[in-house]
Amino acid sequence: MTELQPGIAPPFGDMDKEEFRRFGHELVDWIAEYFDRIEDLPVLAQIKPGDLKSQLPDSPPQSGEPMERIIADIDRLIVPALTHWSHPSFFAYFATSTSAPGIFGELLSAAFDNKAMLWRTSPASTELEEVTLDWLRQMMGLDAGYTGMIYDTASVSSMHAIAAAREGVELRIREEGMSGRKDLPLLRVYVSEHAHSSIEKGVITLGLGQRGLRKIPTDAEFRMDVRALTEAIEEDKQNGHVPFCIVATVGTTSTTSIDPVAEMIPIGEKHAMWLHVDAAYAGSAAVVPELRHILKGCERADSVAVNPHKWLFTPFDLSVLYCRLMKLLRRAFSLVPEYLRTPEEEKVRSGSDYGIQLGRRFRALKLWMVIRYFGHEGLAARIREHCRLAKMFASWIEESPDWELMAPAPLALVCFRARPAMDGVDESERATRLDALNEAIMHGVNATGDALLSHTKLNDKITLRLSIGNIRTTEKHVRQVWDLLNEQLQLLGE
Ligand code: PLP
Repeated sequence: MTELQPGIAPPFGDMDKEEFRRFGHELVDWIAEYFDRIEDLPVLAQIKPGDLKSQLPDSPPQSGEPMERIIADIDRLIVPALTHWSHPSFFAYFATSTSAPGIFGELLSAAFDNKAMLWRTSPASTELEEVTLDWLRQMMGLDAGYTGMIYDTASVSSMHAIAAAREGVELRIREEGMSGRKDLPLLRVYVSEHAHSSIEKGVITLGLGQRGLRKIPTDAEFRMDVRALTEAIEEDKQNGHVPFCIVATVGTTSTTSIDPVAEMIPIGEKHAMWLHVDAAYAGSAAVVPELRHILKGCERADSVAVNPHKWLFTPFDLSVLYCRLMKLLRRAFSLVPEYLRTPEEEKVRSGSDYGIQLGRRFRALKLWMVIRYFGHEGLAARIREHCRLAKMFASWIEESPDWELMAPAPLALVCFRARPAMDGVDESERATRLDALNEAIMHGVNATGDALLSHTKLNDKITLRLSIGNIRTTEKHVRQVWDLLNEQLQLLGE
């Protein structure tokens, strides 16, 4: 028998148990140190496109390499090419973060490697998902008529909601498709102009075409204009189109504006349309009792998407679709060939009946561990603190003559920009200069590596976004980024 070489794969089978233990401990230690030193690392990867690729071999290793060398390459090659989402000064996009119980959940899920396509291929995954999502539903104050399903991302959750809505239209699209049919009217989905692009992608994916999406204007606070929605639906009906789905956003990506769901509900009901709520980011805030009002109206919606991977300290990916009409979702996707038939199928839920995937990852485990470890109160306390920090930052902006708020900040995202005095400069020149200045400030802050911000455009003006959602972010980090912004303004504004 060949001697086992330390760190090298044996000729057959998996890693030896003692080696697994040794490297496993080493990697857990590595992760603990990574979190400890993360503030010394630049938030944004400081590499140029292609830098990592140029350091990697073109072809795979012929024989196995020692684990020590692989782990050393994590430090040498991978870490410098990371943008550190776990850095407490990551304020870009929607700041999100993993957490220790979530990491343990991922570790165990990789060890179990269950493919939860049928109840029997992973009863634990199926039943834990049902129970955990019912806990989350209760924490968010959603009513008991909702059943939850886990998908990977909100893009996919929302696409499934639109597919279920289309199934409800009774046009035999599942059986006959949409192409080559002269009998099909134009089917329409309505979103605000601030809805996330994933809704449009979902509409494209489902074959409804970009023409199948109608974007409704928003009010001064970036919320869907309900009167414009009513008029659009009525106009479409007069033209023979079939309005079948409204997507409201609770917490838009640019500003976290909240569409008036309660006012949109009667419109959906009047025209027998499905009302889906994209609460991918903001839904988590409803676990804070005094913020539950953000989901007002959702008790009468048909479906709601929320991402624990965004603001509930659950590692990417885990999105939840709460749906009332599970029968329609099932009718849109269930297809059971003989080799997947089981004796218990009438009595249990099988994940593959409710989406395009057959096998499904055991994602519920990490969410279950996160909820148990922090508890409802612990999760609410963290989100509440993020909102407090955002309000504090917004108050500095309001008090400063050099900066201005660009949108209300109902949660933990602040939209703002520098607007120093520019004496003697005409309006249009000033607008151009302010856009350039704000972009330069953002790039200047990001280049320091000490914080990361992102931007959007509001009313045609470049707007900076500060999103607070990382479990490690404290007041110290928010004060630091405020100082960095003011340093950049002084440097560039002169
Ligand atoms: N919906 C909203 C409101 C979002 O802000 C985002 C992402 O930021 C998404 C959907 C897409 O999320 P995911 O990456 O989970 O598809």
